[in-house]
Amino acid sequence: MAILQVRNVSKRFGGLQALNDVNLSVKEGTVHAIIGPNGAGKSTLLNCFVGRLDPDTGTVMFDGKSLLGIKPHEINQAGVSRVFQTPEIFGDLSLLENVMIPSFARRDGDFKVNWWPRTDNERDVKEHAEAVLQEIGLYEKRHELADSMSRGDKRRLEMAMCLSQDPKLLLLDEPTAGMSRADTNATIDLLKRLGETRGITKVVIEHDMHVVFSLADYVSVLAQGTVIAENTPEAIKGDQRVKEAYLGTEAE
Ligand code: ADP
Ligand code: MG
Repeated sequence: MAILQVRNVSKRFGGLQALNDVNLSVKEGTVHAIIGPNGAGKSTLLNCFVGRLDPDTGTVMFDGKSLLGIKPHEINQAGVSRVFQTPEIFGDLSLLENVMIPSFARRDGDFKVNWWPRTDNERDVKEHAEAVLQEIGLYEKRHELADSMSRGDKRRLEMAMCLSQDPKLLLLDEPTAGMSRADTNATIDLLKRLGETRGITKVVIEHDMHVVFSLADYVSVLAQGTVIAENTPEAIKGDQRVKEAYLGTEAE
């Protein structure tokens, strides 16, 4: 069953057709990679799923509900969480505090009261945050400042912040960008583990083909705003149109 269904999504920036009639069907419990040359429209597409951009046309359905025309926090409440291309963390707070913040934020201000489903007090939020840090392998460093972490650990921290919200769908924009090979492999292992233990569906934008082929169940290839192929990683490897799209840009 498709948990995320994208139909005929187009987005124009002035004279540039950034997305052109994009269709995407993400099955529940799978890892779906979106690949494509720089400027293909990958981040633009993800922005359309989280309320940062409104597509000009088309529909985005998640779990039977439309994600269009609603506020980012409502999308978040529906179970969609996103790891941004550059980590958005609080550098002068500890890892533990960082992971606790999303739980509190959800109960304040604009956010509906009582929708934090697990807990009603600070101690429970703290225990929940500690459990998530344990799961992601950062528990030992929980009292250290976020700014003092390596790039890889900052990324993992951001994932922990997302996981503390118990998402059904996790969107990751180049989760291994700028990472060492060791950190990249650790991230692959982590994402695999999260699939097994939590069954979270993931949409991953990724440049690194090693990551794509180790993680993805399905791959969509974007080129100049158009999906030119959607298939298993094995089939994508042999696809002539995909090779041509990468030719001259990222051919190996
Ligand atoms: P990718 O993530 O695949 O590298 P993007 O989605 O970031 O590509 O960008 C697709 C195209 O849209 C690029 O040509 C980019 O310059 C352009 N673009 C992205 N965001 C904006 C914006 N807010 N305003 C104008 N042009 C944009
Ligand atoms: Mg991008």
